[in-house]
Amino acid sequence: MEALENIWKKVQLELSNKLSAASYMVWINSLKPVCVKDNELIICAQSNVSRKKVEDEFLDSIKFILNSLGYNFNNVLVITEEEKEYFIDKEDVSSLLSSMVTPKKVHSSPFVARYTFENFVVGECNKMAFESAKFIASSPGANNGPSLNPFFIYSGVGLGKTHLLHAIGNEINKNLPELNVIYISTETLTNEYFNSLNKYSTDRDSYRNFREKYASADVLMVDDVQFLQKKGGLQEVFFHIFNDLYQAGKQIILSSDRPPKDINDIEDRLRSRFEWGLSTDMTTPGFDTRIAIIMKKMEKSPVKLTDDIIYYIAEKINTNIRELEGALNKIVMYAQLANKTPSLELAKEALKVDEIENGSSLDSNKIISAVCQYFRVESNEVISKKKNKEIVEARMIAVYLIRELLALPLITIGQLFGGRDHSTISYSIDKITSSLSNNKRLETQIKDIKSILNAK
Ligand code: ADP
Ligand code: MG
Repeated sequence: MEALENIWKKVQLELSNKLSAASYMVWINSLKPVCVKDNELIICAQSNVSRKKVEDEFLDSIKFILNSLGYNFNNVLVITEEEKEYFIDKEDVSSLLSSMVTPKKVHSSPFVARYTFENFVVGECNKMAFESAKFIASSPGANNGPSLNPFFIYSGVGLGKTHLLHAIGNEINKNLPELNVIYISTETLTNEYFNSLNKYSTDRDSYRNFREKYASADVLMVDDVQFLQKKGGLQEVFFHIFNDLYQAGKQIILSSDRPPKDINDIEDRLRSRFEWGLSTDMTTPGFDTRIAIIMKKMEKSPVKLTDDIIYYIAEKINTNIRELEGALNKIVMYAQLANKTPSLELAKEALKVDEIENGSSLDSNKIISAVCQYFRVESNEVISKKKNKEIVEARMIAVYLIRELLALPLITIGQLFGGRDHSTISYSIDKITSSLSNNKRLETQIKDIKSILNAK
């Protein structure tokens, strides 16, 4: 038996011999092995920028080294911190590897350690949500009376919903460790639900186990409940889980990208239950809060930024906190690569690249429709399960471009394409990437589609 950490250390050692010290420190040192899933080694990068860099430049070396050390993984997948939750709760390490890798849980707590109340910067935009979350963490469920159940937080993306949910989890685990706190994203809940149904023919307990897991919660947190839309079966089950927990005085905490009344395609009885307790929203942080957030994030960084840089970032990035973090990481990464102390010039340079990479207002729909326009196929076919050659080709190229241009998580891309599995998505990307090196026609096609996108 060999621990995954050990295997990974050997790979890092080999890479450190091959690469310059700077490259190694910036790109490789911070990579962490997550788990092995279906004989696929999953490693985690700290940011999307480093994920992409590792995929583009180091993945082949990593695979080669693993092979030469005698580890025969089918594939190596690089994910980011945010995607991790989709992988770490899956323990079914393939039998082939169980003799070689210790199937060990990477996290003992399901909560991201840095998502705490202390690390959450409070401003006008999120004060209510923060105070309520703290109060609920100190006295969850029946203790706080029925009026805070469920606690429903909504906001646009990247404004701290998941952070707050994890902060509640971390706090309760610390102060009330006897309570069973369950956090689940709606995507994972959906997968578990369908898996339990699929397994039912061979394992009669699978569905009951699924129900019982959630019935045993003292605190149940479900992230991004807008994804319950159109999932009738799951809504039905969730309705019963909700009622049982509610009646037993357990705390229910939900997040969504919109208020309950705006969640369409969901049963009325479920929507009205979402409104029973306390709903609170979070909005985009103002300038002062953005400054405070940058300062907070810089506390732990080895690189220090001067005030002019901090003001520049706070002025320029006014969308959400995830993008603020991204900008910050980018500047720090740039400085480390250039081996310089960050200056305003360097900051501007780093963020300019970001603008070009992200395009003006590119989104997955635009990419899919450009691909469809180019191949003269219908977008609903591309999203469907159809297997005609031309549809499959268009689909794979659309997947590839969405990953390349938007750097969306594999899971999210899977959802855009009719709920496909992350491994299917990863397969398409690999396939296109490897064909690109020796297929001129494909190269031209991709170039043409990109120019359609640029022209828009
Ligand atoms: P959401 O779930 O709303 O899309 P997240 O909780 O994932 O957003 O937040 C995105 C990133 O921004 C996370 O890294 C999180 O730590 C950070 N973040 C969000 N809100 C705050 C805040 N108020 N203070 C500090 N960091 C924050
Ligand atoms: Mg979230």
